[in-house]
Amino acid sequence: MERILIIEDEEKIARFVELELTHEGYQIEKAMDGRDGLERIKARPFDLILLDVMLPTINGIEVLRRIRQTKDVPVILLTARDSVIDKVMGLDAGADDYVTKPFAIEELLARIRTTLRKRKTTRNTILTHGECNLDITRRTCLIKGVSVELTKKEFDLLQLLLENKNHVLSREILLEKIWGYEFDGTTNAIDVYIRHLRMKIEEPFNQQIITAIRGIGYVIKDE
Ligand code: CA
Repeated sequence: MERILIIEDEEKIARFVELELTHEGYQIEKAMDGRDGLERIKARPFDLILLDVMLPTINGIEVLRRIRQTKDVPVILLTARDSVIDKVMGLDAGADDYVTKPFAIEELLARIRTTLRKRKTTRNTILTHGECNLDITRRTCLIKGVSVELTKKEFDLLQLLLENKNHVLSREILLEKIWGYEFDGTTNAIDVYIRHLRMKIEEPFNQQIITAIRGIGYVIKDE
C-alpha cells in the first residue's frame, strides 16, 4: 500500500483529500504545517507528498527545498490559483508536479497516479558510460564487471555527472546539488571528492571517466 503525506493547513481540504485517497486505497498521514510535515518525513518514508505552498511555520517551497537536500520522494504542490511564481519556484525547487486550487479530486488522483508511475520507471534506471554501470535502485556501481563500493556522496556525485552527460557541471552546481546549503566549506571539497572517486573508478581500472574542465568544473563525455 502506498503511503502519502498531506501537508495542508486548511483542515477542510486536508480531510476531504484524506477521505478520497483512503477510499482509493492509499495510506494517509496528515501534517498541519511545514515543521510538522518535515518531522514526519524525517521519521518515516513516504511514497509521495502532497504539499500546500501557503503554510504556517515553514512555507511549502522552503519545505520542498529541505526535503530535496536528503530525499527524492515525489512531491506534488498544491498552489493557489494563478500563482505563476509559486509554480516556477516549486518546479525549480524540485517539485514533480503541481495542482492548482481549487482542484477536482479526479485531477488530483490522476496526477498522483502519473507521478507514482513515472517514479517507478525512473527508479529502475541504470546509468551507463562505457563499462561503468550505476544502478540507481540498488545503489551499486560496477566498473568493468567489478563491484566498487562508493560512499553516499561519491555515488551522488557520479550519478549527477552521468545524468548530465556531456554537460559541464560547475563546482558550485555540484556543491549545491549534493550538499545543499548545509555546506559552508569551499568548492575545493568537490575536487577532493572527485579525487576519491577517481581512486575507486579510474585508477584501478586504468581508465579515465571524468574530465576536469579547468577553472569551471567536471564532465563525463561520451567517447
Ligand atoms: Ca494553505
